[in-house]
Amino acid sequence: MKLILLGAPGAGKGTVAKLLTELDGSVQISTGDILRGAVAAGSDLGKQAQDFMNRGDLVPDELIMGIMGSRLQEDDCSKGFLLDGFPRTIPQAEALKVLLKDIGITLDMAVNIDVPRDVILDRLTTRRTCENGDCQAIYNVKSNPPKEEGKCDKCGSAVVQRADETTEAISHRLETYNEKTAPLIGFYENEGLVVTVSATSSDDVINAIKAKLAS
Ligand code: AMP
Repeated sequence: MKLILLGAPGAGKGTVAKLLTELDGSVQISTGDILRGAVAAGSDLGKQAQDFMNRGDLVPDELIMGIMGSRLQEDDCSKGFLLDGFPRTIPQAEALKVLLKDIGITLDMAVNIDVPRDVILDRLTTRRTCENGDCQAIYNVKSNPPKEEGKCDKCGSAVVQRADETTEAISHRLETYNEKTAPLIGFYENEGLVVTVSATSSDDVINAIKAKLAS
């Protein structure tokens, strides 16, 4: 399947994408994960992105398109992909449209995961992430804590609160979402691709996507 996952930070795009990869081998492509990996590795890309990310601002479109232009043409994308956190602006969506046309790929749908703001705020402030750039496992202090406090179950690295998940950075990220990313819903509606799923459980979102793909 070839899907775009839309939704505010904390809507569950990453969780849903991971579950969907298990269905048919489509790959999850998270620009946030790629950028955090670059920051952790201290690469040029990471250095260019870090300050934007820490403030809760979007990284410039040119940097993102530089990453995605090549990523979408890698071999593992041939089985399908789940775009998680990309596109995030209208210029990115327009550039993606051109890129996909050039490489002969058609999207199946753009899933808009719609979750109430109070649920989002609660999820983001209680979310913790493995600081190992190659792992980035997600935990939640209330609903899914690591077995040993502060230590990743998968790789043993420290589990921390992301710099952009302080209350201040979160409210800025949500404002940025409303201003720059929410208009993508209209963009993909015009393309006839939007499926809105209003659900807080990832299983409900997965079932809605499966039903739509089968219809
Ligand atoms: P995420 O993990 O998707 O919430 O992304 C974390 C941060 O990475 C965002 O707040 C942005 O600073 C940056 N980022 C991720 N994806 C994009 C994108 N498509 N466009 C611009 N910035 C992005």
